[in-house]
Amino acid sequence: MRFAITTKGDSKSNTLMHKMRTYLQDFDLIYDEDKPDIVISIGGDGTLLYAFHRYSSRLDKTAFVGVHTGHLGFYADWVPEEIEKLVIAIAKTPFQVIEYPLLEVIIRYQNGGRETRYLALNESTVKSVEGTLVMDVEIRGQHFERFRGDGLCVSTPSGSTAYNKALGGAIIHPSLPSIQLAEMASINNRVFRTVGSPLILPDHHTCMLKPVNRLDFQVTIDHLTLLHKDVKSIQFRVADEKIRFARFRPFPFWKRVHDSFISDSD
Ligand code: NAD
Repeated sequence: MRFAITTKGDSKSNTLMHKMRTYLQDFDLIYDEDKPDIVISIGGDGTLLYAFHRYSSRLDKTAFVGVHTGHLGFYADWVPEEIEKLVIAIAKTPFQVIEYPLLEVIIRYQNGGRETRYLALNESTVKSVEGTLVMDVEIRGQHFERFRGDGLCVSTPSGSTAYNKALGGAIIHPSLPSIQLAEMASINNRVFRTVGSPLILPDHHTCMLKPVNRLDFQVTIDHLTLLHKDVKSIQFRVADEKIRFARFRPFPFWKRVHDSFISDSD
């Protein structure tokens, strides 16, 4: 089996990376940064987001596992003290794989048929470059509302505990193939109106944002921020691809939510 390790880059994570690499090679696993069967991310959730984007072209062939060297992460749930256990578990393949849904984002431009496609593990946000964001929101091809406010956030179920949660969105179990649209400070008064509540869409529904006046937007895909000019539309739906996590022990999603947000004691 081939493996790769991505690290946050700090000395603690790097030391752990060297240790794991040596241990895994002692078990005859092959270090292969280009075509790994398993990617071990050492650092935090941000490190796993980076690893996901680095290997997003081979999601059907690569599984991910995360070790955290800071606080408990949603994607990085192994602690440094457990790495010997983790190495033995990885070496004893085949391992169990669990799949989580991803968000597909397609940005189309005013001129010609050019479009760009992205996959997000957590979410995509849309903000204006200057002033209030004004966009028409369509759901399944039907006009739903004209949004005015700071921005819109569309998240995956596993990303629902990240930015989406800070916006008052619901936490969604990753076994539900869905996306969630949450508002950022919408303007609501007698003239302007939005639904106000986060919306959860199933995998056969598409959400489309269309510019009303300004055509330039700041779009984030997880930790990446990109400026898009002359935008015609931004389309969101549940992606056909999924992320695959290598699972070596049960750590139920709701326990992770509890341990991250309520208390890490039993
Ligand atoms: P970062 O260093 O600013 O860390 C953001 C925090 O979000 C970290 O504590 C990380 O552990 C946590 N996080 C990431 N994914 C999570 C998830 N799925 N569930 C629960 N917590 C999660 O930035 P980063 O590490 O590069 O991560 C980028 C992410 O930061 C974005 O995808 C977005 O979700 C999040 N973010 C959150 C807010 C907010 O809560 N107000 C604002 C901007 C970005």
